[in-house]
Amino acid sequence: MISVSTIKSYMFCPLKLYFQSNIDGDVEEDYFISKTLKDLRIDIQDILHKNLRHIKKDMDENEIEKRLSIGINNQIKTTFDIIEEINEKNKEEDEEEKPKKEDEIEFIDKKDEKKEDEDGELNKLKKELINEINLNIKILSLKVAQSMKVLDKDGGEIQNLFFPTSMYNYLIRDIGLDLIGVIDKIEVEKGNYFPISLKSSNPPVNGVWDGDFMEAIANALLIEQEFNTYVTVAYVDYLKIASRRTVIIDTDARKSFFKVLTNVNKIIEKGEIPTVKTGLKKCENCEYKELCDNS
Ligand code: SF4
Repeated sequence: MISVSTIKSYMFCPLKLYFQSNIDGDVEEDYFISKTLKDLRIDIQDILHKNLRHIKKDMDENEIEKRLSIGINNQIKTTFDIIEEINEKNKEEDEEEKPKKEDEIEFIDKKDEKKEDEDGELNKLKKELINEINLNIKILSLKVAQSMKVLDKDGGEIQNLFFPTSMYNYLIRDIGLDLIGVIDKIEVEKGNYFPISLKSSNPPVNGVWDGDFMEAIANALLIEQEFNTYVTVAYVDYLKIASRRTVIIDTDARKSFFKVLTNVNKIIEKGEIPTVKTGLKKCENCEYKELCDNS
């Protein structure tokens, strides 16, 4: 069964998918961090939703922002403490498992340098996440203040405007499509289902990245099978700039998805080596660049 994340790897670079499926890459740690941060974003949505119920129409924007933020710092701190703790534990286990050569000299400074690098990366992630959340709270506060004024209602009465009925991290496995995926969020409005992909990456200037486009179509197809419905629109939320981009699920989009699915199958099932352009910009950040002739 093909996973939606496999299709995304193909869209990044078909050759990368070939390496991933034929050489066992160590991606466990990255996966753990990105999964934990995704869960954190969902928890924050929950907190904002709950806090919104206590906002009153006579509050000013600053007060609204403060009230919406209650509990969020704590949630961020707890999550990063857990990530640090598990990273430390994993490192200790790795060290214990490593066979020590008798004459091996341990360079204390180097070890410290490595730890500093890793701590630096984590701090950077934390800073970016806090900026993203602050921006989102500010925008939400302005929208809530304006909506309460225009509709003359308290926060509790307008919560559906900002938090429609949603399902998070919804796993769908479809035998007919031979596809499996976890959909970040599914919003349901008047019986219509909308797949939402939550992205912490930088967005393109217009539209969505090709990989995000394919993910949106895959999610739409999975929802159609799971809920016996028809999906015409999906969304990609680029959280860094609080921008929601629309993906139209029309016939052309569906055709292009199945074309990609056929190519992914050739790489995974038949082990075919894909041809890609050489010297791509994305090669600079690719973990396979050392063993790839194309970089
Ligand atoms: S180094 Fe470049 S061409 Fe090679 S797998 Fe990575 S992205 Fe693809």
